[in-house]
Amino acid sequence: MLNDKLSRRSFLKAAGVGVAATSALSLLSFTKWRKESSEKSEVSKIPTQCQGCGANRCGIYVYVKNGRIWKIEGNPKANNNPGSVCPRGHGFIHGLYDIHRVKQPLKKTENNTFVPISWEEAFKEIAIRLNLIIMENGPQSVFWLQYPMANAALSFRFMHALGSPNTASHGSTCYVARNAAFNVTYGGLPYIDMKNSRYIIIVGRNPAAGIRLDQLTDLMYAKNNGAKVVVVDPRHSETAVLANDWLPVNPGTDLALLLAMIYVIIDENLYDREFVENNTVGFDKLQDSIVTYPPEWAEKVCHIPKDTIYRIAREFAANKPHALVHRGYHGGYGAGYINSFQTARAVAIINALAGNFERTGGLYMPLKPELGELKEGGHPSPEIPKVPKADGSGIPGRYPLGSYSDGISHAIPELALSGDLSAGFIYHTNPLRTNPNPKRVITGYRKLQLLVTIDCVMSETASISDYVLPESFFLERDDAVDTVHSLKTGQVSIVQQIVKPMFDTKPLLDILVGLSKGLGIEKYFNFTQEEANALRLKPFGITVEDLKKEGVMNVGEAWRDGFKPPKTKSGKVEIYSEKLSALNIDPLPNWIAPLTNPDPADRSSFRLLHGKQSAQTNAMTFHIPMLRQLSLRTDMIRLWINRSRAEELNIKDGDNVLIESDIGRGVMKVRVTEGLHPSCVWMPSGYGGFSKHLDNSYGVGLSYNDFLPTYFDPVVGHVMANEIIVRIKKV
Ligand code: SF4
Repeated sequence: MLNDKLSRRSFLKAAGVGVAATSALSLLSFTKWRKESSEKSEVSKIPTQCQGCGANRCGIYVYVKNGRIWKIEGNPKANNNPGSVCPRGHGFIHGLYDIHRVKQPLKKTENNTFVPISWEEAFKEIAIRLNLIIMENGPQSVFWLQYPMANAALSFRFMHALGSPNTASHGSTCYVARNAAFNVTYGGLPYIDMKNSRYIIIVGRNPAAGIRLDQLTDLMYAKNNGAKVVVVDPRHSETAVLANDWLPVNPGTDLALLLAMIYVIIDENLYDREFVENNTVGFDKLQDSIVTYPPEWAEKVCHIPKDTIYRIAREFAANKPHALVHRGYHGGYGAGYINSFQTARAVAIINALAGNFERTGGLYMPLKPELGELKEGGHPSPEIPKVPKADGSGIPGRYPLGSYSDGISHAIPELALSGDLSAGFIYHTNPLRTNPNPKRVITGYRKLQLLVTIDCVMSETASISDYVLPESFFLERDDAVDTVHSLKTGQVSIVQQIVKPMFDTKPLLDILVGLSKGLGIEKYFNFTQEEANALRLKPFGITVEDLKKEGVMNVGEAWRDGFKPPKTKSGKVEIYSEKLSALNIDPLPNWIAPLTNPDPADRSSFRLLHGKQSAQTNAMTFHIPMLRQLSLRTDMIRLWINRSRAEELNIKDGDNVLIESDIGRGVMKVRVTEGLHPSCVWMPSGYGGFSKHLDNSYGVGLSYNDFLPTYFDPVVGHVMANEIIVRIKKV
């Protein structure tokens, strides 16, 4: 697929480090491990954050012996993961010793090979090329795409200093529909108090595999206390294993199920009347519109029997306000279908009917400690450019509810092809694997005049970049103080250096300092990480040293049960939204059918769904040997198919099948199961690598993105990742 020629051997040579040199520092033989582990050397235990997935950034302790990382364990003080670490976290630390790491800056030559280059040369050359592009096409022709990390503010600072608003995260491929719906309804994204809930409905979310450790422990705790758990998912997921009820919903029709539950709750007067009257707006309009969605209608659409819908709705309401519908994430209504935004609106509204907002066992706004700012230390801040974002996010008439901070990452290839974007920085993400329709993505990214990737390994995107700047692994660098662990208590936490950098790598701040000099924006980067962190902590009277000792510290007062007005325009929960009405978007959730459907006349036609597995994070971990082994030895890389449909097609468990959509094809081994709705097949995500430089993940498995056409949801601009129809054939 890629033409760039760099064999693994020449890559290692070019990077200036041989295999022998790395292996001495990398994985130990069993004999050596046994010898070293029995040696009586001092063991230090240092707190930091795991970076195995950007959203969680769990608090961990790292044990170091003889200068080598030996193990990690969870920091019990961190709200996100009290005392625990997931399989990915344990495996991800091996990335430090990965032979695939980029060990010094690299530059692509005219014949598509990579050669080493010094940091000074890289900074100078990139600045010269970027200055020319900015002179010709303006600063807004530059974009920055990144994974959510603690130091995100630095990238915004860099881009704003250049004069470009075009920053993006992977959000448009993941969660933006959900966020937009909760923003409209509650003025922000509430968290869920599952631990104290008595009735928990989880729609299309699988925290046992797309791991969120606090949610897993809370779920177990609640179950031990007698809570009932209902999982709505076309697949019998790892979370469904814990459920009292598994509702295998027809994919893409969760909205019908939720509308019918709302119907029952209103029709039978089961809602929290006092809460609704005092703290919401637009209930009367919902009452009028919901009459068209009784369970008798819904069962034909969502394939959940009407009696079950009545029962679940009544049980949910009977447990209010200590009942909740999970706020979800990617799968059910983050970025899945054309109806995802309104599905998430229905989730937000049904919670309000239970009167559970800011109540124990319901939804609550996580505390948000205000970090100190660089300007308080006399460091100038660049202005936010007053030009619209090129991707149309947040612009009426384009993607009115698109998130300004997340942007629309999968619009970048189109904008590169149209000439609206000319240069880009990719930080710790990999759009060639995380965006739909890879051929189109490659064509778009190749059109850019300059592409710079900052990463630890030679990802697919790094492989087609003009420059690859190696970031120090998280265990090798000090990084930004952040508040990611804040839930019912505000918390500050920190990433700190555990071991010396093994190679010629730099933390992001040092890379930006280096780049800024040739771009005339160095005044915005006249601070060290230590100074920036001290300013961030100033409002709390905590020193960087204090935080480095603890890893995570509580700040401010703890959350208390009791209604607090949401940050909406009305100061109430907005069941009916005037804002949506003004934007010509349905102000109440009403039924919207999925954009695509399998062909009922073609028995080989299925919807393709996907989901995370506990061993891998997106497309960024499978090359790490321990995590690779975990997936391979447990035979996780299979396409799930319902038993009855498999029999119709004469497919047996373990057979290989050809999967074809309008844009892609590939072969995969199948798992035949009762645990999947018959209309779909399900593919694990995190596989399908095609970077020839990551030779141990190259060509293993497939990615759903290989089959997904390029869509833009009309409200939020998300990717509609489950609107894929494929044909399946035994090979
Ligand atoms: S969930 Fe796992 S991979 Fe993600 S930050 Fe926590 S321990 Fe690391």
